[in-house]
Amino acid sequence: MATTFDHGGGIRSVQVPIPDNPLGYTLVYVVDTDRGPVLVDTGWDDPASWSVLAEGLAGCGTSVEEIHGVVITHHHPDHHGLSGKVRDASGAWVAMHAADTAIVRRTRETQPGRWFAYMTDKLTAAGAPEEHIAPLRDAAPRTTLPGFSPALPDRELVPGELLDLPGRRLRAIWTPGHTPGHVCLHLEEEHPSQLPGHGRLFSGDHLLPEITPHIGLYEDPDDATVTDPLGDYLDSLERIGRLGAAEVLPAHQYAFTDGAARVRELLTHHEERLADLRSLLVEPLTPWQLAERMEWNRPWDQIPYGSRNIAVSEAEAHLRRLVKLGRAEAVAGSEPVAYVAV
Ligand SMILES: [Zn+2]
Ligand SMILES: [Zn+2]
Repeated sequence: MATTFDHGGGIRSVQVPIPDNPLGYTLVYVVDTDRGPVLVDTGWDDPASWSVLAEGLAGCGTSVEEIHGVVITHHHPDHHGLSGKVRDASGAWVAMHAADTAIVRRTRETQPGRWFAYMTDKLTAAGAPEEHIAPLRDAAPRTTLPGFSPALPDRELVPGELLDLPGRRLRAIWTPGHTPGHVCLHLEEEHPSQLPGHGRLFSGDHLLPEITPHIGLYEDPDDATVTDPLGDYLDSLERIGRLGAAEVLPAHQYAFTDGAARVRELLTHHEERLADLRSLLVEPLTPWQLAERMEWNRPWDQIPYGSRNIAVSEAEAHLRRLVKLGRAEAVAGSEPVAYVAV
């Protein structure tokens, strides 16, 4: 059975399950417009998730076939997974920020072997031990990866612009950090229950009520630009906090009010985390060694393989930030590169 919720003012949501994932579900929002319903995100590409989405849309008084357009907050498969199926069934357009569309295009074009080679090099450079890297090297020639042919969007979400949605005022706000092309969508309309503040915000994974989104390095085999995703994220958070939205409609968990307070909590959390990491860097550490010493939701030796890769990427994003702030630096001549507090 599909769980749906009426948020008022022509906005409903459907909980679309993410198989085998502690997050549970993606909230797919259904926005009524004069030309038919528009979805914000679509959910994970899995037969069970697809049925729940179809059932949920029926519960909202519409159907997959009637969808007019699809707005995607970011390219991750729990948000963009079903976009191709929705488009096939309805002829809807699919819109995404150009930076995430570039990732979708690259994902479709990159051979898994090239991807594994890139990951192997990255982990080696981060100081991962041989026993961690070996399985990747062995798997490379014969693995196909799930989610490797995501739908190519056909419209671009342009930062600061109102979307072409008859009868609604929905503005794209670029919020890079969780991904380079993440967007939040500001519904610039009075709150249906007259809650104080400026409209409502579809926040994707950028701002969630109880969890902090993963911030790792942007991964691109074709681009060696030294990016600062954590810096991008913190800047985007401040920008979102200033909107003063009356209610936040996130892509996971539940809708909440006082987004500005949640922004302040997250800014404080990251400030403390950066200070903690800096204190670990009294001795030179590689990103891998730093990840081993950081606080996670369980001890390092109990963290599964794939999550360790995510953890190292997060450690690297924090190191980038500390280096950029002049609070840490690379140790000259170290190989793999180690970092130390300054
Ligand atoms: Zn995400
Ligand atoms: Zn997500």
